[in-house]
Amino acid sequence: MVTIEEAHKIIKDQKVKLKTETRKLENCLDFSISEDITAPFDMPSFDNSAMDGYALCGISQEYIIIGEVAAGDKKDFKLKSGDAVRIFTGAKVPKNTTAVMMQEKTSVVGKKLTLQQMPKEGQSIRRKGEELRKGQLVFEKGTTITPAGIGLIGSLGIQNIEVYKKPLINLITTGNELIEPGKPKAEGQIYESNSYALALACEQFGFKYGNKKQIDDDFEAIKSGIKKSLETSDVLILSGGISVGDYDYVKQALEENGVVEQFYKVFQKPGKPLYFGRKENKFVFALPGNPASSLSCFYVYVLPFLYRLNGSAKNGLQRFSFPISHDFKNKADRPLFLKAKISNNEVEILDGQGSSMILSMAHGNALAFIEAETSYNKGEKLECLLIS
Ligand code: AMP
Ligand code: MG
Repeated sequence: MVTIEEAHKIIKDQKVKLKTETRKLENCLDFSISEDITAPFDMPSFDNSAMDGYALCGISQEYIIIGEVAAGDKKDFKLKSGDAVRIFTGAKVPKNTTAVMMQEKTSVVGKKLTLQQMPKEGQSIRRKGEELRKGQLVFEKGTTITPAGIGLIGSLGIQNIEVYKKPLINLITTGNELIEPGKPKAEGQIYESNSYALALACEQFGFKYGNKKQIDDDFEAIKSGIKKSLETSDVLILSGGISVGDYDYVKQALEENGVVEQFYKVFQKPGKPLYFGRKENKFVFALPGNPASSLSCFYVYVLPFLYRLNGSAKNGLQRFSFPISHDFKNKADRPLFLKAKISNNEVEILDGQGSSMILSMAHGNALAFIEAETSYNKGEKLECLLIS
């Protein structure tokens, strides 16, 4: 049995081999970049208009319009004092432009332009390099690419990005009692739901699972299922069969597959029978079968490790401290991860904390970390993991 801190440390201290690949811009969402990205040129790369209006030379209220320049035009005007050019957003401003005046503040009669207000020097001009300078660091290695990040990288003309390969994840659920949702349920059976929750939790954070398999509580079947799944995965996540029951075969089946235990059992609730092991460069998390336990263990332990294998600088879910909205006492000698709801800048510990109870987790948005044998008064701060 290890403490929560020891479990985190064991996971963090694993030596991992990261692989990289080149991916096209449009296929990079949620990948982590494997080398710094710097700006290949100034951005914007030329002075351009921030408005539809008129490029003006000199400060005055009246000008003569001498031409027009639209976005993408190559025309290059050279203005003299008193000249104006009709200009559109994004168009390169002519040489000697003092300011751009938005068209709403102008009136035009023939070639004569009159402004409703005096222009200010530099007004409505987006200057070359005002957002980024050539050579400036845009993203550090390890940054996870978001849609805005993709937009930025694209605007720098970069089409291929060096990223870390994502880990391949396989899922195995075990249990004789489990049947697929949608099928008729016989006495004693329950619907298998962990694989759905775990698979989609992977996907929510940009990790894809390769395949998921449901196996009965049969030692040989579990052993061969693990063997096959390990062949095609970097991370194998199992649920169920890892506790101390007579039909809990997962631990032994892992051992017989050459998986070496890194820790088994964490001094916590829920999720005490959590197992973590490795076989060369492949890693195994065996999560307790209780739905809330398995998902909590995924958020607290598996997700940070997936980020590491992904080369990401992220270390799992965001952690925030919020004042608790009521008194709370943990009489247990173990620390707890409790299903909680953050709203109005307060955190409420929800009813229904049983390890099997997923209702409160589905209604909540956080896991609150509670120390062993500790009383909390309303208003005291609790560390929370934000799960949605
Ligand atoms: P186990 O860890 O196999 O002892 O399972 C603990 C509890 O979780 C039992 O009540 C199981 O029926 C339930 N359980 C195990 N696996 C799943 C699953 N994949 N989906 C839903 N419930 C499960
Ligand atoms: Mg079971």
